Amino acid sequence: MKIGILGGGQLGRMLIQEALKYDDEFYTLDPALDAPCSSISHFTQGNFNDYETVLEFGKGKDVVTIEIEHVNADALAELENQGVKVVPNSKIIKTIQQKILQKEFYQANNISSPEFEIMDGSSDEIKMDFPFVQKLNTGGYDGKGVQVIRNAEDLKNLWIADSVLEKLVDIDKELSVIVAINENGETKTFPVTEMVADPKLNLLDFNICPVNLSKEIENQIEAITSQFLAVVDSPGLFAIELFLDKEGKVWVNETAPRLHNSGHQSQEGNANSQFEQMYRVVKNLPLADTDALMYSGMLNLVGAEGYTGQVVYEGMDDVLKLPKTYIHLYGKTVTKPGRKMGHINVLADSREELMEKLIQVKAMVKVIA
Ligand code: ADP
Repeated sequence: MKIGILGGGQLGRMLIQEALKYDDEFYTLDPALDAPCSSISHFTQGNFNDYETVLEFGKGKDVVTIEIEHVNADALAELENQGVKVVPNSKIIKTIQQKILQKEFYQANNISSPEFEIMDGSSDEIKMDFPFVQKLNTGGYDGKGVQVIRNAEDLKNLWIADSVLEKLVDIDKELSVIVAINENGETKTFPVTEMVADPKLNLLDFNICPVNLSKEIENQIEAITSQFLAVVDSPGLFAIELFLDKEGKVWVNETAPRLHNSGHQSQEGNANSQFEQMYRVVKNLPLADTDALMYSGMLNLVGAEGYTGQVVYEGMDDVLKLPKTYIHLYGKTVTKPGRKMGHINVLADSREELMEKLIQVKAMVKVIA
């Protein structure tokens, strides 16, 4: 099968890497000539936000999928009209691309998500109580386009742009659950993972699995995932990012309609990885089992502050000496502060051992130039 992927980043790279054990041909589209997928697939340099470019790229493919959601969804809709299979479909990509539509989707479908108000262009009519979180309707990623407005004084920082104003949740834990649904309607859910963010870079730092949750909290998550899968109306693999608040209530923060950083530990930690699952979704194959094999965790390898240039991974030999520790690099040659260059997965027999190993590994490695 000819499988086209919009985006040629690390998510696409790891999907292709996993799927090479089967017999398919992968095509990728990315603006960067040296994108992580460029050397391992049929590569087209081009803008996945451009209508004509996406239309042209999709022609002759059996399936087109995405590894980034900021793509031209109108072109995907046109490809669907022309009989090209698009996974996930253009409708759900459009809904998720815009924070306002995404929030309305949760509201309309009784999926627990923080109370919100829509702001369209002016701050005059805000009814939301302080503190709240402003999220730009489009264009936000990795924590950019999100800010907390704590009081009337903060209002001067408000972005005058279409956005969602959302109640600030008193967060106890940030959790993620990856779900998959194929065209036949078969569904599978990965065990919940917990994210520990680096407050400075706002990028995911550690991601661990499984998470010890009460039956009551598990039931709330199960209600969210089953309702999401019941109404999503598209095949796909989706990462549902959750907040657990200090009162034990679970809320959906947002959903990514694609492979996700919070699922990387599944490469060695689960019976099958999110990448294997994505491949099966794209091909409408029976879905893979997702059981956690042990405690597993992931830490991102991000470019250190103060270094830009040809990347050097300091301390990797020491990491390679550790048991049940796995390095994944993304084929990026140039590092800059905060750039995701790779990740390391670690397995352990207990949560305590896992946290110790992750902290040990984090102290060992540095991404410099
Ligand atoms: P992005 O799409 O950039 O990842 P998110 O919507 O996930 O943006 O927000 C980034 C971070 O901001 C979240 O991981 C969380 O820590 C914080 N955040 C977002 N929404 C809320 C909220 N309603 N209450 C409290 N914190 C929030």
